[in-house]
Amino acid sequence: MALLVVGSIALDSVQTPFGEVRDVLGGSASYFAVAASYFAEVRMVGVIGEDFPDQGLELFRQHAIDIAGLEKRPGKTFRWKGEYNYDLNEAITLDTQLNVFQYFQPKIPLPYTQSDYVFLANIDPELQLQVLQQIPRPKLVACDTMNYWIRHKPEQLRETLRHVDLLTVNDAEARELTQEANIVKAARQVLRLGPKTVVIKRGEYGALMCNQDTWFFAPAYPLETVYDPTGAGDSFAGGMMGYLANTDNLSEETLRQGIILGSTMASFAVEAFSLNRLSRLTYGEIEQRFKAFKSLVHFEDITVGKLEGM
Ligand code: AMP
Repeated sequence: MALLVVGSIALDSVQTPFGEVRDVLGGSASYFAVAASYFAEVRMVGVIGEDFPDQGLELFRQHAIDIAGLEKRPGKTFRWKGEYNYDLNEAITLDTQLNVFQYFQPKIPLPYTQSDYVFLANIDPELQLQVLQQIPRPKLVACDTMNYWIRHKPEQLRETLRHVDLLTVNDAEARELTQEANIVKAARQVLRLGPKTVVIKRGEYGALMCNQDTWFFAPAYPLETVYDPTGAGDSFAGGMMGYLANTDNLSEETLRQGIILGSTMASFAVEAFSLNRLSRLTYGEIEQRFKAFKSLVHFEDITVGKLEGM
């Protein structure tokens, strides 16, 4: 099944304790699309400026991503500058230059309006809603957001959430959105806003899914080499949604597998700056790491009453 993503395509400048890069390929739609492209036919809607490097377009094409929905506009590409300290869970935004993104009005090409799976990456909730108004009957709409929109466009965000099936947010965003400090209560509260499923991303501590009455927890893969956490959340969503679109199945079991595949893709994304690792994976590597997740949480049951001295 085809998977549509609408989001930012950026040139990022990032500094972490392990190095620094300038004007490299980034953006929520880029990470999402490349991660998802291993599993599904991906269509991308976004905007780039005249300065966007050909290598970026080439990378999307190599991954068979449909970029007919990518608008090239006069002006400069969206730029984000961020920094991470040793606590890699927290991105510090140093500068955001919207450039061509400032006037972005997502236009969904006619053939894309039949997409069954839709991911609204982190953009203005009013634009997210505009996208949905152009797609009559998607099977699954997932959405991401950030503190900025929770603070500055709360009403618009709530309206968008009424039309969303699955929300991915990090734990700080879940707390802020629901005004609830306890993450379990916050997850339940999100489900009252519209989504049937919420996935709370907790960085190096994994991800928690609340799907009506069931809970599922996935750890993060214990990596020794984390160079740059940028794009981890979008790569997670790309792996998960790519799998759901591939299987065209929304059972609890498939969602759980999707969460682990998402965690797998996120773990690769953070191993290098930009999309340098995420874009160079083999299916063997992906499968091996997926299996490692299984052994990470596997344990045999015990009968507590039969323990010595009980
Ligand atoms: P993530 O680390 O998964 O939350 O996403 C990181 C990506 O989001 C970076 O590559 C940035 O280019 C992009 N980004 C940062 N701020 C914004 C924003 N305000 N709107 C859209 N995309 C953004």
